[in-house]
Amino acid sequence: MLDADFFRRWMAATAASVDREAEHLTALDSPIGDADHGSNLQRGFRAVTAALEKEAPGTPGAVLTLAGRQLISTVGGASGPLYGTLLRRTGKALGDAPEVGADQLAEALRSGVDGVMALGGAAPGDKTMIDALVPAVDALADGFAAARAAAEEGAVATIPLQARKGRASYLGARSIGHQDPGATSSALLIAALEEAAEG
Ligand code: ADP
Ligand code: MG
Ligand code: MG
Repeated sequence: MLDADFFRRWMAATAASVDREAEHLTALDSPIGDADHGSNLQRGFRAVTAALEKEAPGTPGAVLTLAGRQLISTVGGASGPLYGTLLRRTGKALGDAPEVGADQLAEALRSGVDGVMALGGAAPGDKTMIDALVPAVDALADGFAAARAAAEEGAVATIPLQARKGRASYLGARSIGHQDPGATSSALLIAALEEAAEG
């Protein structure tokens, strides 16, 4: 079973890898965006870390809804409301149970990803974070390592796609040949689940 500590470790591991990869994420956002994705998420996940320390939420659902709220209120770009919705919706779906099973987490994440698609209007293949998140959620039944591999593959598979949502879509065919920054950061979020499970 996964308790609030697991979810705190998930957010902490995400914050750490966003810090590590911030320059890379911003570099990916340079040719097909406005070169701020790394700094946007760094600001957001630093706020998540601070809020979790201050408020110490006691359930999995409360950890994720607090994290989602912080992302929405501190990240200016498109990714803030989208990641915020992902975590908030996932947290809401977990309710107020003190511990949840991996299958419940998979189901909750599915509703979070559905929330991102409803908010942003992106479908798989549009060269967005959805291209990492959907395969990850599909693979989650096979465990965190499988989900991580699926997310990483999904992020790399955005390279030949033409963007149909977000800033990159303004470039039309010139968006082809670049890996989507949001899909790349989504793969970090999913990879952090495996780290959280290792304790
Ligand atoms: P901004 O584009 O406002 O500068 P960021 O650079 O932080 O925001 O985030 C860009 C990422 O957001 C993109 O790489 C893409 O993955 C994701 N994104 C943008 N628009 C959408 C959307 N409508 N649906 C899903 N993801 C989106
Ligand atoms: Mg940007
Ligand atoms: Mg921006």
